[in-house]
Parts: sequence; C-alpha cells; structure tokens
Amino acid sequence: MTQAVDIIQPTDADHMRYMQAALREAKKAADCGDVPVGAVVVREGRIIGRGHNLREQRQDAVLHAEIVAIRQASRKLRSWRLDNCTLYVTLEPCLMCSGAILQSRISQLIFGATDAKAGACCSVVRSFDLPLHHTVNWQQGVMADECSRILRDFFKNKRISKKQLGTRGQRKTAALDKYQQRIQLASKTEPQKRD
Ligand SMILES: [Zn+2]
Repeated sequence: MTQAVDIIQPTDADHMRYMQAALREAKKAADCGDVPVGAVVVREGRIIGRGHNLREQRQDAVLHAEIVAIRQASRKLRSWRLDNCTLYVTLEPCLMCSGAILQSRISQLIFGATDAKAGACCSVVRSFDLPLHHTVNWQQGVMADECSRILRDFFKNKRISKKQLGTRGQRKTAALDKYQQRIQLASKTEPQKRD
C-alpha cells in the first residue's frame, strides 16, 4: 500500500526563500572559481538536497549544481525517486541536468535566469515538451535578476583578473622566467658531492 503524501503548494514567498538558498549555493561555487550556479531540492517544505557547481574544483564534467543536489536528496530519502520534490536552480538546466530531472522523477522545477547558450527547458531545447514517460512542471524567472547578476559579476571579475595577468604570450613568458629562476635556484642550493 502506498502512503499518501501531502503536497504542500509553495507560495511566492517560499519560492523566494528556496531560491535564496540556491543563490547561497551559487556563491560557494564562485568562491572556488566555478561558474556560480546553485540548486536545492525541497520536499514537504524542507530542503533535502543542496548543491553547487563543482566542475572546475573536482575536474568533473557532470558535477553541475542540479546533479549534486539530486544525489544528496536521493541519499537523504534512500531512494532514487524524488516524487513530490521541487528543484530550485539559479540557472536554466542544461540537457544533461534536464535528463537527470526526468530520471529522478522530480515533479517541479523552478529556475531563475534563462541560459541562451545551453538552456534545455525553453532557450535552446524544450526537453520537457518531449513525449517522454514523465512530466515536469516548470516555472522560470524567480529572482532572475539576482541569479543572472551573480553570473555576470563572476565573468566580469574573471575578465579583469585575466587582463591583469596579461596576454597569453606574456603569461607564457612569465611562467618560463619563473621556471628558469627555480632551476637556477635549485642548482645553487644543490648539495656538494663528497670526494
Ligand atoms: Zn547541467
């Protein structure tokens, strides 16, 4: 017998609260040099999974915020089925994450900013319109300004620090100089051979 679960319909204030939690996750990604995207999984009014983009930090192409949050929620529920769960994510999910949302049977998806280059909900592809086995209700635009601002600021800072480091040629020359200095230093401090 399956147990009936009360589905609590989130209010606009709830959407904002959970998106703020996703934004806090995005901030963690930015602090580690990863593109700031954050996600949380909510069930019956409780956050059961959190995640931020870890691609650069772990050098793992699949560790998008949504995947990390989905995995944590599954561990918490001891189930791969995330029925009656809502995923909040700061950026429109890509094709891989849309697939993971479908595979994990997440019921509802709320995202902030759209992704014109890789978004797979409404920007590049409309994955959830495909005639598949599972339906996902999705909504966009919750705190969209804040969600896109954190991305804009991240790329702006990255451009500035790249500029400060100089052109690729200048960076290469600086790295070679540093390497040569190290070699010279090492040869000076090399222990003398005993006769
Ligand atoms: Zn993704």
